[in-house]
Amino acid sequence: MLRIRDIIQEMEIWAPPGIAWERDNVGLQIGDANTEVTGVLAALEITPEIIKEALQKKCNLIITHHPLIFKPLQNLTPKSFSGKLALDIARNGLHLYAAHTNLDFTRDGVNFVLGQKLNLQNTAFLYQEGGTTKKVAVFVPVDYVEQVTNAMTDAGAGIIGDYEGCSFQTRGTGTFRPLEGAQPFSGDVGKLQHEDEVRIEMIVPKWKTQAVVQAMSDAHPYDEVAYDIYPNEAVDPKYGAGVIGTLPESQPIDDFIQFVKNTLKVPTIRWAQGSADTVSRVVVCGGSGSDLVPIALQKKADAFVTADIKYHAFHEARGIIHLIDAGHYETEIWILDAIMNRLKKKFADTRTEFYRTEITTNPIHYS
Ligand SMILES: [Zn+2]
Repeated sequence: MLRIRDIIQEMEIWAPPGIAWERDNVGLQIGDANTEVTGVLAALEITPEIIKEALQKKCNLIITHHPLIFKPLQNLTPKSFSGKLALDIARNGLHLYAAHTNLDFTRDGVNFVLGQKLNLQNTAFLYQEGGTTKKVAVFVPVDYVEQVTNAMTDAGAGIIGDYEGCSFQTRGTGTFRPLEGAQPFSGDVGKLQHEDEVRIEMIVPKWKTQAVVQAMSDAHPYDEVAYDIYPNEAVDPKYGAGVIGTLPESQPIDDFIQFVKNTLKVPTIRWAQGSADTVSRVVVCGGSGSDLVPIALQKKADAFVTADIKYHAFHEARGIIHLIDAGHYETEIWILDAIMNRLKKKFADTRTEFYRTEITTNPIHYS
């Protein structure tokens, strides 16, 4: 039986809520994670039509990129736009899960999908920041190293990029004098004990620290476990903002604009002309990404494809970088296929149906 929590778990291996923008609101927004899944519908956001489509397709889970509940709801009544939709979802027994900036900031998320759509090669994050991990170090008697390392690994420690089970182990001597009331693993009360120990160090995503420390303590033979937790400013290769890559062949800017228009199916593109005659290095950021312009310039990008660009940002880009507004909806919608592909592959042996919405939820018309 496939439960909503199974889908959430798979989504959060990919896009952990812990990497979302701090003022974002992601995760299960409406419903009970223990419910059995009847079908899954992916959409960019909730509209009345999406609720209708979920009911028609017998999907009791809707996954959206944009959270319906973003600002705290004062009440759950039909008086507000989001209150009405939330009430309709709950009344119809539907569930809503949102993966927003966590899906922007993860590898193979919104920006990598957009980069792939625009044929970018050698793609990498435009900008990465440390601080998403902690380092846990624990002192373990030699015979228990494997047991403790495995428990920490199972709880999510030791993953660096495409490697798992990463640890560093140094052998040394631990000392302790058991006091009255202690239940020492070795040695006697009142006597200083020297023990052959190994210091195991592992990286932990900061949102998993508690779970890893719990698993480590449960697997450890001592009644009092000695461990340290350090802040870690190293960059986790899996997370970052924006994507930079190169086109297979450089193109004149006018051709590139046409290509973006056709590929992303945008009827009209607003853009400011930069300096490069031909475009080769391109930065993409789905949705509102113009805050990243200074970093795109540092990385010597010729063009930047994003959305929601303000008039003055266009002015500042003029003569420097081709700044291209290809629409919020049009730069993000492609992530739905990636969500569907991932879930279909993972849950291929279940009978659950996964659908990408057939409805266009873009509220903007081009006339
Ligand atoms: Zn968006």
